[in-house]
Formats: sequence, structure tokens, C-alpha cells
Amino acid sequence: MLVSELRCLRCGHEEAPSSRAYLCPRCEDRNPRDPGILDVRYDYDKVAEEVARGGGWLQSRHDIFRFLPLLPVEAPGPVLPSGGTPLFAAPRLARRLGLRALYLKDETRNPTRCLKDRATAVGLTRALQQERKTVYCASAGNAAISLAGFSAHAGLECHAYVPRAASPERLQWLERYGARTHISSGNYDQAFAESEEAGREGGWYSRNCAYNPFLVEGKKTAALEVAEGLGWRAPDLLVAPVGDGCTLAAQGKAFRELALLGLVESRPRLVGVQSAGVQPMVRMLQEWEGSDPSGVLSGDPPEAGTGGDATGAAGTAAASMDVKTPRNARRLLAELRDVNGQVLAVEDDRMEEARSVLAREAGVVAELTSAAALAGLEDFLHADGGGRDRTAVVLVTGGRES
Ligand SMILES: *Cc1c(COP(=O)(O)O)cnc(C)c1O
Ligand SMILES: [Zn+2]
Repeated sequence: MLVSELRCLRCGHEEAPSSRAYLCPRCEDRNPRDPGILDVRYDYDKVAEEVARGGGWLQSRHDIFRFLPLLPVEAPGPVLPSGGTPLFAAPRLARRLGLRALYLKDETRNPTRCLKDRATAVGLTRALQQERKTVYCASAGNAAISLAGFSAHAGLECHAYVPRAASPERLQWLERYGARTHISSGNYDQAFAESEEAGREGGWYSRNCAYNPFLVEGKKTAALEVAEGLGWRAPDLLVAPVGDGCTLAAQGKAFRELALLGLVESRPRLVGVQSAGVQPMVRMLQEWEGSDPSGVLSGDPPEAGTGGDATGAAGTAAASMDVKTPRNARRLLAELRDVNGQVLAVEDDRMEEARSVLAREAGVVAELTSAAALAGLEDFLHADGGGRDRTAVVLVTGGRES
């Protein structure tokens, strides 16, 4: 394993790669909205050596473990195969948006139909390696369903903490996979707090992506595949929906690492999309934008916005981004700042429309949250000089119906 250290995104404190700490011990109790999430760092000289040797990317693998040198595991785990999803051009959508090319990365083709499986594969590999028997997470649905499916395959006990607004369809998926489901009386934020408490008490393995630092590493593999699929070139724009911020931040990190390794020459501008009803990242980006970068990154993030409240009412029909307190805000804002990225918000009815366009003009059935990315891209181009000569990749993050 080529991990060199775990570095706190908030204060810079470093933990050894072998540390079992989930959060920075110095920051953990300071601010629950910004608890000192650790970032996995690698010995990039060694990674470069591995990759240069030709066998660096595992040519025999077609799942996420193809990119083993940039993952925090010793060896591929005996888990459901995730990743290796298709990246394909959608010429009708490109024409509609005036882009030179638009590619879809179809994450609905993962084992539980969602990009979350990439993170789960890394988490479960580590949990199995540590001989853990019980795993848990808080989730509006997809992360829990992913964990439940992977746990079923691996024979682990899975506890899922879901908000009150979780749809009956999602609960049924959990039931099918045999997970133990705990329905919160409140929203995702409350379910998150409940899960962490139970997890600490039970000594269970956490699959909360904005908490367990290793999970984001799995999400990176989507961008690594995008780069490989484009012949080791970056698109001009990479678009994804934003909940906690882990997914989009991970794509930024992947391209940053590829640039560091000399494997791509440029990096994409990241475009994040939220819902008009719950758009804390839009607001946080605006507030942080005007301030001194060093001061910003050493201070506390601003208050989060509106949205789903403590009574459990949903802030948007796009369940996977109904996140009032984005837990990986600091990570995402740093990645955005690095590439002149953007976050914007779209109304729910625009997402519905985009969902229909994706199906009718690209043959992909996406969940509402994922369709939001297409609507957001349209708005971004409108405000930013149009498609011009640009190439964009939209991460179609998930494909559950409701
Ligand atoms: C979780 C999820 C997202 C958002 O990812 P974050 O890491 O929370 O920002 C987007 N789309 C789908 C389908 C998801 O399940
Ligand atoms: Zn810290």
C-alpha cells in the first residue's frame, strides 16, 4: 500500500497510515459541521514508479482495483465488482447543449446501480481485512443500499440509518438485501448523528463517506476511468450532483493526482449541481469566494443553508442530494477553488425535464439527483459563454427509480 499519511483537511495534523482514527483527534470535538476530516495521501514517487513499470494499473482487472496504486488497500478485496462502467458519447445531448462532445459516465451499471458502490468496495475491503463483522452507515438510500448489497455478498451484518423521508422503494431494497434498517425521526443529518453514536458504541465499521477517509478514495476511480477512457486526457468540464460533496471532490482529487503523476496535462473545471430547495454548497462557495484563501481554509465554514428540516420533511424530491449540512464541504471547496469550479442549483421541475431528456435522447434512465447534473450543465453553459469548443463529462451517478 502506497499511502504515506492521513492529513487533516482542517488543521494539517498528520496521522500514520495505520491509524484507526476516523477523524482528526485535534479537531474532532471542535465543530460538528467541520470535524477534521482526514485526507489520504500517497507516496506519489512510488506510485509513479509503479505506473511507469507498465503493470502499475492492473490490466487484468476491470473493476476499481485496476487503479490499486492510488487506492488505500493492500490488494483487491473479495467484494462485489464495482466500477468499470461505460463512458460513452451522447451526440444528441451534445448538439442540444452546443458542446463539441458530451460523454456520460454511466454509474447506474454498478452492482447496486449507483456510484456509491465504488466507495463501498474500498470500505468493505478494509473492513474484511480488519476482520470486522458489522458495518453501518447513514444514508438517504443509495449508500445504505450499496452497503447492504455488498454486506449480503460478504456475509457481514449491516445497519442502515435512514431519514424519515426515505422512500418505501428504498426501504424495500434494504429489506431485500437483509440489512437492519433504523428509521430516524428526523432528516439525513439526524440519521447521520444517530448512526455515528451507534457505530461508536458497537465498535462497528463506518461507511459514512464524509467521515471514514478511505471511502472517497474509491469514488476517485470514476474520474480515473474517465481519464483512461478519453485517452489520458481531461475533459474541459466534469459535472456531478452534490450532496455531502464527496463525489465531486473525489473527481477533482483524482485529476489532481493524475496531473501530479504527469499522466494528464490539464484538469477539468468541476461543476457541482444542487437543488434550489437545498443549496448549502452554493452559498458556502459564494461566502468563501470573497475571502482570503489561507484564512478561509483555516477558519470554520459558514452556516449551512435551508432545506430538509429536523421534522424529516424533504427539501427536494432529489433524495440523494437532500443534504443540509454537507460534511465534506471543506474538501470540495478546496478542489473547486483549485480549478475555478462552480456549484449551482436547479429547480426540481428542471431535474424532471432533464431526466426525461436523458432517457429520450441518450437512452439512460437516471435518478432525479443524477439528472440534475444535466440541467445544471445547461445552466452553467448558458452563464459561461455556451458550449463553444468544449468537451463535458456528466457523471450519471445513480439509476434508482425513486
Ligand atoms: C450520494 C449521491 C450523490 C451525491 O454524492 P455526495 O458524495 O454526497 O456529494 C449523487 N448522486 C447519487 C445518485 C448519490 O447516491
Ligand atoms: Zn485537525
